[in-house]
Amino acid sequence: MVYADTAATTKVDPVVAEYYTKNLISFFGNPASQHEAGMSAYKLLEDARKNIAEFMNCHADCVFFTSGGTESNNWALYNALPKRDSHAIVSSIEHPSVISFLESNGFDYSLIPVDSRGVCAVEEIKKLIKPTTSVISVMAANNETGVLQPISHISEIAHEHNLIFHSDAVQYVGHIPWNFKSGEVDFVSFSGHKFNCPKGIGALVANTDKLKTPYIFGGGQERGFRSGTQNAPLAAAMALALEQSQKDDFSDMYVSSLKNHLRNDLLENIPDVKIITPETDCVPGILNIALPGIKGESLRIFLNMRGICVSTGSACSSGKHEQSQTLIAMELDNDTVEESIRISFDRFNSENDITIIVNALKEAVKLL
Ligand code: PLP
Repeated sequence: MVYADTAATTKVDPVVAEYYTKNLISFFGNPASQHEAGMSAYKLLEDARKNIAEFMNCHADCVFFTSGGTESNNWALYNALPKRDSHAIVSSIEHPSVISFLESNGFDYSLIPVDSRGVCAVEEIKKLIKPTTSVISVMAANNETGVLQPISHISEIAHEHNLIFHSDAVQYVGHIPWNFKSGEVDFVSFSGHKFNCPKGIGALVANTDKLKTPYIFGGGQERGFRSGTQNAPLAAAMALALEQSQKDDFSDMYVSSLKNHLRNDLLENIPDVKIITPETDCVPGILNIALPGIKGESLRIFLNMRGICVSTGSACSSGKHEQSQTLIAMELDNDTVEESIRISFDRFNSENDITIIVNALKEAVKLL
């Protein structure tokens, strides 16, 4: 099987899996317990927090463990919208864990339009600010095209207007080093399973001066903000997965070279292929493409029959076959939206995987 759907989820790094399973046996204690088993689990948990903080250029107290990206996004917004009539400004290409949170809770929100590359029209943001606006939320990297957003610029606007700035960095952290200055983004969400850690853990990195509202109530874990017994071995696994993602002079260089290989081979072999992902300012491992005249859904099924896993639109909505909101916001024509597929890969993919994908797509053009 060629797994090329890493934007949906990634394979667990065997080094991380081994460390995790070993720790599950050795560090089973409840980190809150005042005895040896508890204290050793507590140390594992807090060491993981410190390591993650180093990668995120922040103090360990700013790292709050959650169940993943969805929870981190929901919590960040819940905290940043203190009143029923609080208003949010979000990009028109956010993940459903941002948009659905606002919709379902009846919050007032405005959408920042994007240009044809899928980049936020930053100059529009100021026009959207209302007296009730309390937060701007813009993802660091888009899950369907991989395009990066001008985070520093948006942060400046938010802070000039005393607004909280949240960024969903689920497709960014673990793929590109987090080089933003401490405090530039007030709340950052990320998720372990997007960078080769097992599922069920993520984090919200928070500016603690702006963190006011607990999200899950109970025993007061995570400094009273997110109750529930922590999974110390899983937290340690995520810290190791983050470290692994950035070793050997950053594996993003290798993944970028795979993407260049894929892009160049497609352009050479399938002249009318549409490459939707822009050539620059993107995460390394996502390439969104369309083959004119072939529905993305048919292509996904064809590739699956040849042992290649890719997706159409985002994984969370592809089961329902909804059109990609990101591609619609980019004002791509309806046919291209219907024809698009997302090929995504990471450091566990090989050059040979790319060759297999290109050959299968060449075959699809002949047969479909
Ligand atoms: N945000 C983005 C951009 C995503 O791609 C995803 C998952 O696909 C999420 C949030 C949700 O993360 P999780 O699956 O960890 O809940």
